[in-house]
Amino acid sequence: MIVVSLREEKNNTVKYWYVEDAGGGCRAFSEVVVLVCEQPREIYTARVPLTWKTKESLEEVVCRLITGLMKKAGANKEDYYLVCPGNIFYGFHRWLSDNGYRWEQIKMEGLAHDAAESEFQRQIVRAGFPPHIHLVERNYRDFYRLVEDWVMQQPERHRYLKDREVRQKPVETRYVLKSNYGRPHYCSACRETVKPFTPMVEYKATRDGKRVRHYFHPSCSPVTPFKNKLVTMDAYIDGKQLTGVVIPCRTDTACAWCGGIIPAGEAAFYGYLDDRLFTGHLLCTGVQKAAKEI
Ligand SMILES: [Zn+2]
Ligand SMILES: [Zn+2]
Repeated sequence: MIVVSLREEKNNTVKYWYVEDAGGGCRAFSEVVVLVCEQPREIYTARVPLTWKTKESLEEVVCRLITGLMKKAGANKEDYYLVCPGNIFYGFHRWLSDNGYRWEQIKMEGLAHDAAESEFQRQIVRAGFPPHIHLVERNYRDFYRLVEDWVMQQPERHRYLKDREVRQKPVETRYVLKSNYGRPHYCSACRETVKPFTPMVEYKATRDGKRVRHYFHPSCSPVTPFKNKLVTMDAYIDGKQLTGVVIPCRTDTACAWCGGIIPAGEAAFYGYLDDRLFTGHLLCTGVQKAAKEI
């Protein structure tokens, strides 16, 4: 009897933890990170210092802060983690995967989002920012501009500015391994074409306010990408195996295996056999059947 009740109790203690940030887009004041459980209601918060002397990247500092909060909260591997997809959490995402935690990325709403925003607000009000001015309907741009203007108004407030240098992203985080869509790109290294629907590395940055994009064959990429969004799978045509990519279909497309329509938005297989492209339902491609070229 005792064993049974203990087991039940254990099942009931699986918690869902939400991880969210606030204030990252503002040039002043610390980023806030929160670890939140809705049921039972628990809120843990931490602040990224405005500057730091260690060689850590911002992602590493954030990862260290959140794992510290997890320890404090007693959050463990039995629990489930729902994490904001923001860049600031790349290091934490990787840490969760490397350590075998169950987790996923979600766009944050509800308690975690509110807790992060109000902690950021508390921080700026404590520094003297007018309390009646606050974020309205997620209009971060205008709100952060007001906060920055207030900080810039007086020299003694400049100490609230973030140190941008220590926050520079390590170059690896600007590279993502993913699948190319229907448009060919030129590889910035070898100048050859990166074929549509094949793996590629995308480099993203902003220079002088302009978006910069570069593309590479995975083998031509100058650095190992920090993030991997590439999904591949094997398919069979007339007994021949081909490896392809899995990405959402952009328009309604006929399946080369069953002839049916793959509706736009649904994940589909794209693979080449002898330079011919085959597209199919994920469930059809494993079937050994003649497929038509499209
Ligand atoms: Zn190349
Ligand atoms: Zn099909």
